[in-house]
Amino acid sequence: MARLKGFQKLTLIDDALQKWLNVLQIKKPREATAPLNEALNRVLATDVIAKEDLPRFDKSAVDGYALKTQDTIGASQFKPVTFQITESEVGVKQARQIWTGNPLPKGANAVVMIENTKKTDGKLEVWVQLATGGNVSKKGEDVKKAEKILKAGTRLNPYHLALLAAMGNSEVKVAEKPRIAILATGNELAEAGNKPSGNQIFDSNRVMLSAMCRELGAEPVDLGIAKDDINEIAEKLGIGLQECDAVITTGGTSVGELDLVPDVVNNSGKPGVVVHGLALRPAMPTAVAAVDGKPVVILSGNPVAAVIGFEVFVRPLVCKMLGMSREEPRPTVNAVMTRKIAAALGRRTFVRVRVTQKNGKFLAEPVSARGSGAISTMTRGNGFVIVPENREGVTEGEIVMVRLFGNVEEVR
Ligand code: AMP
Ligand code: MG
Repeated sequence: MARLKGFQKLTLIDDALQKWLNVLQIKKPREATAPLNEALNRVLATDVIAKEDLPRFDKSAVDGYALKTQDTIGASQFKPVTFQITESEVGVKQARQIWTGNPLPKGANAVVMIENTKKTDGKLEVWVQLATGGNVSKKGEDVKKAEKILKAGTRLNPYHLALLAAMGNSEVKVAEKPRIAILATGNELAEAGNKPSGNQIFDSNRVMLSAMCRELGAEPVDLGIAKDDINEIAEKLGIGLQECDAVITTGGTSVGELDLVPDVVNNSGKPGVVVHGLALRPAMPTAVAAVDGKPVVILSGNPVAAVIGFEVFVRPLVCKMLGMSREEPRPTVNAVMTRKIAAALGRRTFVRVRVTQKNGKFLAEPVSARGSGAISTMTRGNGFVIVPENREGVTEGEIVMVRLFGNVEEVR
């Protein structure tokens, strides 16, 4: 592909994503075994089928006495029924003491709460009527044997882990973490912690993109910083392609003299760059590529543009690599726009907003004003409003759907 001199034609996001995913060879993830204590946020590699019922037996849901319901008919505070206390099978007019979680003894079909009884002279008075199964958790009431309890591709939360443990599992089969190489490029970049010289800026994209990979359940591999130099970029890219499942680069993807990354990727293998120049704002100069079926995402150096490029391309990619059937949705909320915002017709515009809750209403305040370089829009904001290609903006008071990446605070 010839070096692009300016982006005469921008590709629509959905088309770009489709075209790119079509040339990628993404294998089913390798399986790994994780102890439950280390499986939080990992993604299930296989469906989980219940090997037995849960609970495994009928059990008491309260502290009390197991008995036969027909013996409680007519019982009331004024007319308690007297039971004989037994230590074995429950016969007619007999009650057996039972604690929460104990199996229901033979002969009983309900449990009376201890609060509704009184023990005197080795006898038990009961003053409530019980229905069959009263205060009993039935065998299989939670989960039935052979039921599919969890689906492959599920990201494990604490409750999934509890369910797995309740079924007797100590470990779980999860998708191995895809390894994603991250390379920052740019002559101007200084490593954070070092003293910057002249007009150097600190590289912040590498740590951010690593953390974003980690957040999604991928394993970032740091390729460091490359100067705007064909050989240096090619060498580091080569390491990434050799050792990892995908490569992300930032910087050097516009149409300036030093924007060399797409060319280097093209020289690394086929098909190379699939789409360069997107109908997306910010992040227009993003490119997506593949080298021998391996995904390469060429993100802009502008921090916010890198975020949006990641959101649009890397997020669905990682989900796919983890074996999910579709992109994992972020939480969303409908909010009232507090100010009008302009967007570019023909492009998909990502507006950063800060959503708050006020008097039971969600409000979305734009924080985007400072452009695609201003990373603080991401720390002051907690969500994206995605303005579609066919809209020139959003009006004040309009209800918009916000894709949240942070928590929503309540304000007065
Ligand atoms: P580029 O995509 O190379 O044209 O970079 C655009 C702008 O993004 C640069 O002028 C820098 O200000 C900024 N930038 C590039 N790389 C990084 C990085 N790794 N971390 C933070 N900012 C960056
Ligand atoms: Mg640059």
